Amino acid sequence: MQKMNTYFEVNPDKEVERNKKEKKILNSNVSTKENMNIPVVFHVVYNSSEQNISDAQILSQLDVMNDDFNRTNSDAFMVPSDFDSVVASLQLNFCLAQRTPDGNPTNGIIRTQTNISDFDLYDTTIHYSSLGGSQSWDTEKYLNIWVTKLSGGILGWAQFPAAGNINTDGIVIDYKNFGTNGTATSPYHLGRTVTHELGHYFNLFHIWGDNNCGDDLVNDTPTQQEANFGCKIHPSISCSNNGDMFMNFMDYTNDSCMNSFTIGQRDRVFNSIYTYRLSLLSSDGCTPVTTNTADASIEITYPIGSLSACNNPIYPKVLITNNSSANLYTAVVKYKANSSAYQHQLYSGNLSQGQSDTLLLSAIPIGGNNHFLDVELIQVNGSMDSDTSNNSDTELFNTTGGTSVNINIITDNYGNETSWYFYDYNNTLLDFDDNLNNNTHYTHNYCLNNECYKIIVFDTEGDGFCCDYGQGSISINKELHNTEIAQLSYFNYSDTIEFCISALNKTELTIKSNYFYPNPTKGIIYLNPIRFSEDIPIIAKVFDLGGRLVLSKKIKEKSINLSKFENGIYLLELQQRDKITKNKIILNKP
Ligand SMILES: [Zn+2]
Repeated sequence: MQKMNTYFEVNPDKEVERNKKEKKILNSNVSTKENMNIPVVFHVVYNSSEQNISDAQILSQLDVMNDDFNRTNSDAFMVPSDFDSVVASLQLNFCLAQRTPDGNPTNGIIRTQTNISDFDLYDTTIHYSSLGGSQSWDTEKYLNIWVTKLSGGILGWAQFPAAGNINTDGIVIDYKNFGTNGTATSPYHLGRTVTHELGHYFNLFHIWGDNNCGDDLVNDTPTQQEANFGCKIHPSISCSNNGDMFMNFMDYTNDSCMNSFTIGQRDRVFNSIYTYRLSLLSSDGCTPVTTNTADASIEITYPIGSLSACNNPIYPKVLITNNSSANLYTAVVKYKANSSAYQHQLYSGNLSQGQSDTLLLSAIPIGGNNHFLDVELIQVNGSMDSDTSNNSDTELFNTTGGTSVNINIITDNYGNETSWYFYDYNNTLLDFDDNLNNNTHYTHNYCLNNECYKIIVFDTEGDGFCCDYGQGSISINKELHNTEIAQLSYFNYSDTIEFCISALNKTELTIKSNYFYPNPTKGIIYLNPIRFSEDIPIIAKVFDLGGRLVLSKKIKEKSINLSKFENGIYLLELQQRDKITKNKIILNKP
């Protein structure tokens, strides 16, 4: 009070200003805001090493602040039952500052050695480094608490809101009346000096109103004659009340005898925070620097533009760049292609400022021709990135032509009798092998266009590779889903498998030899009823080797008559709804 009055004597305009706001506070009723977090910086200003209190002592004080302001203090139950209905939690959380006003990392504890042996009451030199104290941090963003040796047995003091110079805002506490361990000395060894001074900092007056039966501007605290010291026994009556609330933090009793704030005090604190100290609640003082300075960007480097559909699934690549001075060690990337579900991938590395690295993402299967890829950085160094404007990228790309096809060759007991030659639609030889081992499975992969191809096989002995001397075969499969396009097992000296890659994007049935029979056929082909759904029409199409459609028919009777065609090789396509199966058939009429 004395400090406030001294300030207003020199700055009468400030008193007028504050009085206006005070009227408003008495008439308003702000309800609590969620997560009221107050960043705290502790300034330890020491002359002797004993005064340079430990981190543990500071943390013990922080615990008391959080307990007392959330009514989680272990002695809360000691409040007399008369007052049960008025005691309240003030719902304020105090956090150690994680960043300096300049944005550098800090543990929220500043230690400054001073030549000043002790500080007098309201001595403002403690708030300025140049005067032998410790410079206050932006008092609109931080609660500043100075701990030092005070003269004359003073426990501490606080600056009321808007009642002093902005640079001296905060509280000052004697090092023996601070925290619960180290130099803390009974009877003020439970951290309540800070709780009391913070009450003033948030605009609470002494419970006796600093007058004989005075008014503290809070309705639910009983009027009492004067300060209580030591410990009292309830009811301790004065001013015709039913008992002083000497256990209120805003009295002067011993630390072990105070334990409560009231609902009225809570409302006054809420109103005062909204009127004077709202900027504390939006301060980034407790946001770690690594979070806010780690700024990475992400860019898709693959796929871009047009690529062969053989690239399925795609393996996207992204470039991660560290734009901040803090090294980047980890990042979490969220990504998806088209309508797939999001996948997440972790990047681990060590990128200094300006460095980039490529992250290979996991496979994404794609269908169709036109695609988009979305990538997003959702975490950098374990936290949210500070600058999210460069945290995502989208690429449109398309896949053209190209189907990944495997040709499987299985030899019989006489592999050296067999050879094969693979031609494209221009009769250009793409591949061949005339040096095959016995009973061996060869797989060759090709990226083929939407065209027709052929494989010619030879057997020098005229007994093919099936089925008298082993179980040889050639089959052509689309790599994706391993869909069989064509298959050959029986031939004599030579045979040709023609197959075409369809642009149709339809699921193909896996062809088994028992989809239809016999093959070769003498004219009638029968569909295996267990391979097709009943009562759903089947469309059969027969193509000749030139790719010409020679028969197109809706089948009900589950058989196809090819006896009107000349002997030769045909491609039979069977479609039931969106399932398509294709296979070469050999017509060999007697
Ligand atoms: Zn006080």
